[in-house]
Amino acid sequence: MEETIHVIGHKNPDTDSICSAIGYACLRNTLGDAEVKPARAGSLNSETRHVLKRFCLPEPELLTRATGQRLILVDHNEVAQALDDIRHGTVLEVWEHHRIGDLQIPSPITFHCEPVGATATLIAEQFFLHDIEPPPAIAGALLAAILSDTLVLASPTTSNKDRRMAPRLAALAGVEVAAFGAELMAARGDIATRSACDLVEADFKAFNFSGNRVGIAQVEVPDARPLLSRQAELIEAMEQMRSAQGLCLVLLIGTDISLKGSHLWAVGERRDVVEKAFQCSLSASGTFLEGCMSRKKQVVPV
Ligand code: MN
Ligand code: MN
Repeated sequence: MEETIHVIGHKNPDTDSICSAIGYACLRNTLGDAEVKPARAGSLNSETRHVLKRFCLPEPELLTRATGQRLILVDHNEVAQALDDIRHGTVLEVWEHHRIGDLQIPSPITFHCEPVGATATLIAEQFFLHDIEPPPAIAGALLAAILSDTLVLASPTTSNKDRRMAPRLAALAGVEVAAFGAELMAARGDIATRSACDLVEADFKAFNFSGNRVGIAQVEVPDARPLLSRQAELIEAMEQMRSAQGLCLVLLIGTDISLKGSHLWAVGERRDVVEKAFQCSLSASGTFLEGCMSRKKQVVPV
């Protein structure tokens, strides 16, 4: 057999990174490429763990180094979010729905990036374009990834393609979209029982903005009030993260799914940049951004 090709998502993996890797490896295996295997770049969050257990899917293999590996990247293409030594790996393909990042790839590759709500939407589409029906467990995992990234098709990142793929996958997986979405959101766990560090770290991404390293964490909850009552703790956890990783700025987006907006907190010297970008004043209690639900579409660009 040929040398293994790992399909891998970003560090601090979310459900889209894990399930897109599993889904794409399954598609390639079905097409006869047995050497393609799913991998993960970190430990699973509670939502993803719930999804894999529900559909009896094994946890992908943990990969900590890219050096010497043949890789297919899903759900990321920025160096700061990839395995630390990504420049020493061989990237063969990218399947993505974020901004085009800073990864230099020396040879021509398949680089598929589309502004859809989840990478899993693109993977699901590939199954259908190849006239292959994803097995029920894979359909369920891909659907979970779409609902997770789009907050059950409510986020402004949701595209018509996501809306078309979701019911098709739901029918194959034998679940109902709204009920399954609620189940997923519940599997994220209770804010009250999680430590402030865990809340900041769980969905934390680093970005390189013209040489300045900025960390942006997001917590998406049905009701953000429990976050507001813990903001002192959260800001302390953000400060810790900032000094540990040598970042110039750390942002926390606390998205309130029912209010369809986000609370924003920032720590670091250049908070003025954030105030200017969002035309707000950032007191210790942060600020509320109405209608803001997406880090990718509404925070990173500004
Ligand atoms: Mn992701
Ligand atoms: Mn994604």
